[in-house]
Formats: sequence, structure tokens, C-alpha cells
Amino acid sequence: MRYEDISDEDILESRMVWRRMGKKIKRAVRCTSGRRKGRVVSKPSQCSAPINMKKRMTLKRTKARIIQASTSEIYGDPEIHPQTEDYKGAVSINGPRACYDEGKRCAETLFWDYKRQHKVDVKVIRIFNTYGPRMQKNDGRVVSNFILQALTNEDITVYGDGQQTRSFCYVDDLVDGILLMMGKNNFSGPINLGNPTEISILELAEEIIELTGSKSKIINKRLPVDDPKQRCPDINKAMKELQWQPKFERKEGLQKTINYFESLLKGERKVAEIKKILCIGDIILDTYSQGLVERIS
Ligand code: UDP
Repeated sequence: MRYEDISDEDILESRMVWRRMGKKIKRAVRCTSGRRKGRVVSKPSQCSAPINMKKRMTLKRTKARIIQASTSEIYGDPEIHPQTEDYKGAVSINGPRACYDEGKRCAETLFWDYKRQHKVDVKVIRIFNTYGPRMQKNDGRVVSNFILQALTNEDITVYGDGQQTRSFCYVDDLVDGILLMMGKNNFSGPINLGNPTEISILELAEEIIELTGSKSKIINKRLPVDDPKQRCPDINKAMKELQWQPKFERKEGLQKTINYFESLLKGERKVAEIKKILCIGDIILDTYSQGLVERIS
């Protein structure tokens, strides 16, 4: 069987493309993935978006190099620890995270096929939990959630008993790793990029309370289904091949992230004040114009 097409959601969503390509497409893999409010979202039709057809053709023609941003999620709820790149993972097939996890696994598979078939310079990185300034305020990830809750003195929501572990990589370190991988010749990976310093989620909550001087209390909420119990990258390969390892200590990275969210909240408060003033202005304006209307009529 010949697989002719590897396309992403945007391309395949377009009816025009379907109509135009309809006869030529023998097989298509429709792959998308996503997270909303911190939770992995899965619609039955979603997988991960590996590469779109136009890009595929361009890459083939230009012999461009491409990195597939894969994820530690492909290891699922891992039985070996820390996770090495040759570990095949323990991924649920039908759980709520499965669509994302399997989608990303599928994307890697397609990339390797693409490399074999078309000799495209493909590289695969597996990104572990990353954090830092400019994270989305409401995407529900643990670092942004805890910092925002701490800064507003709201309860800190630890899911489950908080004994599950993660290893958090500061964004600048990750970017350095990606750039090194992009510059590296004759090496496709896959390669883990993450910080190997592991911490439990409960400890993280306590650390953030301490750094922010918050009055927040820690409360426990239901642990999401299939939430991995532990996650920590083995980065020996990245150290050997890229001479890369994270430089930022977690406390330093967290402090920078806290500073970011602090100024974001300050900015939001200012905007709210201005809106309030404008709103009063609107009322005055309304009353004034009402008076005018009454006089005219
Ligand atoms: N988590 C938590 N409270 C929150 C958000 C997340 O306890 O408000 C936990 C979540 O259950 C998981 C860990 O923190 O065990 C990391 O969650 P995140 O969504 O940031 O990343 P994941 O590793 O699950 O992709």
C-alpha cells in the first residue's frame, strides 16, 4: 500500500483542497492535537499534525531541515525512570490523553517514513515540561496555575496527593537545545530535551508559596485520568551529541516566571481601572445624551 499524503488539519480542513486533490489522495492521515485549559483535549477525529503537504513538497524540493517537536507524552505513564530515548513507552490507547499521546507518536513515525522515503533532513526532539515568562495565563499548566493562585492568594490546587513528579525546564534552556539540534549535522535524534531535576507536584506548590510569600492554602483535587506518576528525562544523549544541558536552577527560573505574572496582573488591574473610568464616562455620556434627546423632543 502506498501512502501518498501526509497532511495537517488546515490543509485537510479545506474543502477546496479536498476537491482538487480528491482523486489523487490514496491515503491521508489527518492529524491534529491540542490542549485546552491545561487538559489534553481529544476529539475522536484528532491526532497530531505532523507535516502538511505543501511543506512536505517544499522541504523535498529545497532539502530543508525540519525539526519535529515531539513530547515526553509519547512515553505515556512510564515504567522506566528516567526515560531514555529508546524506551518505547506505556501509553493508554483509549484514555483521555491517548489522542494527544498517540497523535504525537504517529507524527514521529510519519517523520521517520518521510526521512526514509524522501531523504528529508528530519530531526526529532522530545520536549519535557517547560515553563517560563509568556506562558498562557489560562492554559491550566501546573506552573502557571500555581503561580497565579499564589499571587492572588487563592487556594493552590494540587491534583491527587501531589506525589506525582515532573522535571521542569526553563524556556531559555529549551530554546538553546533546539538551536543546537537545528545546527547539528548528520544527527536526527530522537533526543530528549528537558531538565533532569525531578520534583513532586506538592513540593512545587510549597516552593511557589515560599517564593511568592503567598497566604494561599494547598487543597487537593481529583487526579486526572492517566496522569503520569513520574516523568524525568535522561539527557545523556543530548549532553553527548549536543553538549547541552540546562543551566537554569528551578528557583531562578520560577522567580523570573513569577515576576512576569506579577507584572501581567498589575497591567490587567490597570486596564480594569481604566475601563471602570470609561464606563462611568459612558454613563455620564448616556445621561447627557438622554437629556439632549429629551430637550430636542
Ligand atoms: N497539576 C496540579 N494542579 C494544577 C495543574 C496541574 O496538581 O493546577 C498536576 C497535573 O495533574 C500533573 C502535573 O501537575 O500531575 C503537571 O501538569 P501539567 O498539565 O502542567 O503538565 P503534564 O505533565 O500533565 O503535561
